Amino acid sequence: MSGDQREDASAGWGVLGAGALGLTVALRLAQRGEPVTVLEREPAAGGLAAGFPFPGMPNTYLEKFYHHLFRSDRDAIALIDELGLGARLVWPRPTTACLVHGRAWPLDSARRVLGFGPLSPLDRLRLGAAIAYLKLERQHQRLEGRTAAPWIRRTMGRRVYDLVWGPQLVSKFGAYAQQIALSWFWARVHFRSQSLGYVRGGFQHVYAALVREIERHGGRVLLGHEVRAIEKRPDGTFRIESRPTAGTAAPITHRFGGVVSTLPTRVTLRLTPQLPAAFARQFDWGQAYGAHCVILALDRPFMPPVYWLSVNDPGYPFLAAVEHTNYVDPADYGGRRLLYLGNYLPMEHPLFAQDDAETLAQFYPYLKQINPDFEPRWVQEQWVWKAPFAQPIVTTDFVQHIPPHETPLPGLYLANMFQVYPQDRGQNYSIRMANRLVLRLPRLSGGQ
Ligand SMILES: Cc1cc2nc3c(=O)[nH]c(=O)nc-3n(C[C@H](O)[C@H](O)[C@H](O)COP(=O)(O)OP(=O)(O)OC[C@H]3O[C@@H](n4cnc5c(N)ncnc54)[C@H](O)[C@@H]3O)c2cc1C
Repeated sequence: MSGDQREDASAGWGVLGAGALGLTVALRLAQRGEPVTVLEREPAAGGLAAGFPFPGMPNTYLEKFYHHLFRSDRDAIALIDELGLGARLVWPRPTTACLVHGRAWPLDSARRVLGFGPLSPLDRLRLGAAIAYLKLERQHQRLEGRTAAPWIRRTMGRRVYDLVWGPQLVSKFGAYAQQIALSWFWARVHFRSQSLGYVRGGFQHVYAALVREIERHGGRVLLGHEVRAIEKRPDGTFRIESRPTAGTAAPITHRFGGVVSTLPTRVTLRLTPQLPAAFARQFDWGQAYGAHCVILALDRPFMPPVYWLSVNDPGYPFLAAVEHTNYVDPADYGGRRLLYLGNYLPMEHPLFAQDDAETLAQFYPYLKQINPDFEPRWVQEQWVWKAPFAQPIVTTDFVQHIPPHETPLPGLYLANMFQVYPQDRGQNYSIRMANRLVLRLPRLSGGQ
């Protein structure tokens, strides 16, 4: 160790990342009496689901990226209850719609599918029947190895693909749209509910409560600590080097008996050069897009009653407009109306480097296309958030590159959202994976 490094005399488990997955792993380990330390790069817990304090509203957070739960998200719902936050979880049934030919068409019920004007009556029936089939089919294994786009065209018809699903596949997966696994599409349709769950005051309450609970059980959550290296020592322990992200403090060396990394697989592989090359080749694979989100606080509603608008018309610089306050009461935000404009793009896309003012100037004319009355003076505040590795690209060969939890370095475990297939991500699936993984982890100390 070089002279300017500090040593953290921790033992037990190290958990890398304080998102839904890392915090749930740490909670379960702490609950069974094991020493656990979480290292997180960001100054706040929550990962991709983290919120920021909403100005002027005490104890209120807003997600950097729009978030809700489905009724099928049982592990997340159970955790929220366990943390004593059940009373905050509300289940409105907001309107979700597609922008087709300049008009927002709600498509969130069988009746609305049957009334979807841009399609012929026969195509509407085919769309409805295929959705019903995907809802009823319980085994995604039967669909394995097949690609979503041709299946949709064949089953629902060319026009349904062109107007409804094709634009959504392209906006989410770009150049990979034609290679996306049918199993992923099944999961997307199968598990969705019309009622959507939201933790009033923000999901950040869940992450703050997780941190409190971990600490109450004797664990530690070190925020603002970026992991820079993972090394297995000859004595079987792990040396983790972290660097405080604020200030100029020296790197810190931590010693752990076992490590669970919830960082994207690619990042863990790069931080752990001791992992064999063949393992790295197989799992340092595939693509993940970054997420880009503009949030506008408006002085009036933008597209009531629509909460979620998938932008299926071509040419728009964002793929979805999500008016959070057509879902959650605007009174929670002092009456302000909140509109997200989201994108998934390769991280090298110019949007990620673009100046925020330039981005807003680019987006405003398209907001006027959705609501011709829109004026930039409606915007009272704005935020722009960006995150790498936010949208795994779930192609048909993805499944062959999902890493196991156990790595060739005994004691180092991988757990991340690239392992929740056929889902592509979701707080629920990270929480479920954490609950299941901890049952497989050996005891490092004499816990109960
Ligand atoms: C735009 C968008 C919309 C979404 N909508 C929903 C939704 O409606 N409902 C839903 O349930 N889910 C949604 N999700 C998905 C959800 O946010 C994720 O599935 C979930 O938060 C993943 O949690 P995780 O802990 O597995 O990963 P992450 O949240 O990515 O956590 C990994 C953590 O590791 C940290 N980290 C990375 N590198 C380092 C390092 N070197 N050192 C230390 N720490 C590091 C990161 O900062 C992060 O906190 C959405 C995601 C996005 C991007």
